[in-house]
Amino acid sequence: MDRFYFDASASYPLRESARQSLCRCYQDICGNSGSIHSYGQASKTSLEQCRQQIASLMGCYADEIVFTSGGTESCHLAIRGVMAATEEDRRWVSASLAEHPAVLYTTQACDHWQHQVIDVDKSASPILDEAKLPSGGLICMMAANNEVGTLSDLERAHLVAQRTNSLLFVDAVQSTGTIPVNLDSSGIDLLAASSHKFGGPLGIGFLYVRRGTPFKSPSTGGGQEAGRRSGTVNVSGIVSMTAALSESLNDRKTKNSRLISLRNQLIDALQRIDGVQITGHLTNRLPGHVSCVIENVAADVALAALDASGVCAGSGSACSSGRGKPSSVLLAIGIEPKYAASALRFSFGDYITDTQFEQALALIQTTIQRLSALR
Ligand code: PLP
Repeated sequence: MDRFYFDASASYPLRESARQSLCRCYQDICGNSGSIHSYGQASKTSLEQCRQQIASLMGCYADEIVFTSGGTESCHLAIRGVMAATEEDRRWVSASLAEHPAVLYTTQACDHWQHQVIDVDKSASPILDEAKLPSGGLICMMAANNEVGTLSDLERAHLVAQRTNSLLFVDAVQSTGTIPVNLDSSGIDLLAASSHKFGGPLGIGFLYVRRGTPFKSPSTGGGQEAGRRSGTVNVSGIVSMTAALSESLNDRKTKNSRLISLRNQLIDALQRIDGVQITGHLTNRLPGHVSCVIENVAADVALAALDASGVCAGSGSACSSGRGKPSSVLLAIGIEPKYAASALRFSFGDYITDTQFEQALALIQTTIQRLSALR
């Protein structure tokens, strides 16, 4: 049976350039980049070349990139790093309920900072009202929502951050590699990215920290990454991640036009099925991302039926799937609980061919129609 991978937002398949880089690194001795000997120095040289390459792909300086173990760590490091560098008590941190738990729970756990909830609209896009935002805080905003795919208005976020004298942290875990950004001109102060979301290996990511941003490492250790993130640096992961980011961003406009056209076909097909409701913004969303809810059909049942047909999809967020709890994002955007437990996410990328997509589309249509007729 043919299998079709529609869970790229949970983890993107390893890109060919990333696989080759990883194999090359594993074939050679990859010394500790902190060692004085020639293997260590060779690793150090590769590390700094990658930092430079990532910086030029993201439009920033090399010394503004801090390598981490992935998206969750990058989000923690951004929030806790700013907090550790801020001496006054009673500062403000703002985040919407549609944020990923890596951001939401971290902001909520910081008891010496006051927490302010940012409202979201029906598509899960944060509504930044500067009149409601206290000045001198940290605004946390995801670039694209992992569950419903909606893109946030980062230009407006920058404007509001400027007007309220706040720092702006962007969780770009879902958009990096797909939605290009120029960090220097963006006004973003901190940005989190994760390699396995754009076709690099698991367990590696990076955090951008704009020069001059108050930041102090919240953890102690060997002081790697210019004292900002301790721990032996995963050079082979970084080399492979850099190759993936470069491959992903190459010719991105053309790739995105194709993905958007496929995405719209799937949205149209699902919208025609009784009992199905598309979640998130219909057009202002990630190119290869479609999400929906089905009335009175549990997500686990739908995912098992799709898998049996050959389509591997997800239920909005890899983190909350399997817990049987309605998604907090869907509740925040006003989806009724009976629908919120049935969240489905179809996410795909450059790897899918038009023919594969067509075959998968037919399978998705048949399976969802059958499930919806049973409700
Ligand atoms: N932020 C967002 C928006 C995500 O979608 C995810 C993972 O799905 C994370 C953060 C955490 O990233 P990681 O899985 O690399 O820890």
